[in-house]
Amino acid sequence: MKSKWQGLDGHILDTARIAIVVILVFSILNIAHFYMALKIFQENIADSALQRTTNYISRTLKDVNNTYTCLSKTLAEIYEYKLQGPYNIDAILLDLKNKKEQLSVHTIGLVDIRDNLYLDSFGRVLSIDTTSERDQWVQEFIDQPEDSRYHFYDPDQSEYEALYSFYYDHKLKNHLGQVIGIFGVGINYEAFYSKVQGLDEQVSVLFLTKDGEVRLPKKNKGESIFTLFKSISSEQFEAAKMQDRIVYTYSLNKSELLYIHYFKDINRMLLIKMNITDYYVQSIKQHIYSFLIGLGLTIAIVVLNLFNNLYQNKKLSRTAYYDSLTLCRNRQYLESRMQKRGYWQHVQQSGHSLIVFDIDHFKHVNDTYGHLEGDRTLTQVASIVRRCLRESDEFIRWGGDEFIVLFDIKAHEAVHIANRMRESVKQETMVSLSIGVTDILIDDSYTSAMGRADCALYEAKQSGRNQVKVR
Ligand code: GH3
Ligand code: MG
Repeated sequence: MKSKWQGLDGHILDTARIAIVVILVFSILNIAHFYMALKIFQENIADSALQRTTNYISRTLKDVNNTYTCLSKTLAEIYEYKLQGPYNIDAILLDLKNKKEQLSVHTIGLVDIRDNLYLDSFGRVLSIDTTSERDQWVQEFIDQPEDSRYHFYDPDQSEYEALYSFYYDHKLKNHLGQVIGIFGVGINYEAFYSKVQGLDEQVSVLFLTKDGEVRLPKKNKGESIFTLFKSISSEQFEAAKMQDRIVYTYSLNKSELLYIHYFKDINRMLLIKMNITDYYVQSIKQHIYSFLIGLGLTIAIVVLNLFNNLYQNKKLSRTAYYDSLTLCRNRQYLESRMQKRGYWQHVQQSGHSLIVFDIDHFKHVNDTYGHLEGDRTLTQVASIVRRCLRESDEFIRWGGDEFIVLFDIKAHEAVHIANRMRESVKQETMVSLSIGVTDILIDDSYTSAMGRADCALYEAKQSGRNQVKVR
């Protein structure tokens, strides 16, 4: 068995080396493809889903602005008129409350500059002191040249928490053009938030202060973005104020894409979180499958290649040990058997015999009828001799017109077979055989046995050819 694999050892190594290189190249290509697919996916996301979400948020903000700018302007004209005459405070308060409910806004406020009063839809009547921190906005607005303003009011101090609003303020003037009041409508920040949240089930939206503190959604209010999303560094967050940023986190349990955008209008950072776990897991699975298929194919090719080589080797050794003309075994075959451990020992110990035969005057056949006829005669002799032998007898063309047969019987039995061979050849061909027979003794070497058989053959030749001699 060992010798069967001997010639293959080098080949197995070569094939294994090629297989490893193929698997390595394949793995590298597969990993590269995985990262490329991820990159394309990222770019597509940035181009589509993120753009869609930010555009939608901007548009919603604009829509909200347009709606409330017109609405508040119409209301402001009504109150401009009311403020100029004598008015009943309670009636105004009730009116503001009703309007707030009808329009589902967060608050409606009215400032009467002449009486220094602030009235709002919550029923509050406050006296105004424009030097105070609370009311200084009144003076600031009056000092502005514009008659109206859109104002995002989400102060970072917690005491103003209820005032998360977009304010639409309008100056109210008398017929002389003097500012007599301010009318403002505030709409709830959360109303806006609910419009942009849930746009896509994989997408969630957060609004943050510029320091990274969550304002919305309410359940995370006050938490830091850096504790909520460990993958975001403060440098990335800072950079996002200048240019939009995308941060990715990948794991089999939770893969996310975080998009950070600065909303100048409301001075808030927008964070869009997109769940991409499904895509990530699927992509990994796909690439593992394709890797396994590649691996399987490579192994299949390697195994097929090995079997093919095994087959070719076997075929080669078979032809290498045969004589193509006579189809006998050749000299190399006998030599290879001799190298096998225990072979000759077995031959010595189990009563074998050896015959050597040579065609008589074969040169004459060649010279008279030509080499082709000589060849034909050789083939014919070989086939006649083979007919006289058993499967277990080793029939070898030693070279030229000389052959050997190794029998697993004693010489006195082999002589009968040798005579049968000789007679058949004599009858069926134009040539005869001289044959030397010898027993293989227990202390014989292969050459000593051959030497004796050769002597016997020589004796047969000397005694007139076409005969068998035993030694
Ligand atoms: P002897 O009776 O003494 O054996 O005489 P011989 O003529 O047979 O002489 P020998 O055995 O020495 O010569 C063998 C000849 O066989 C020599 C060679 O030309 C011829 N021969 C050897 N191999 C081949 C072969 O493959 N084909 C043919 N046609 N002739 C061969
Ligand atoms: Mg001869």
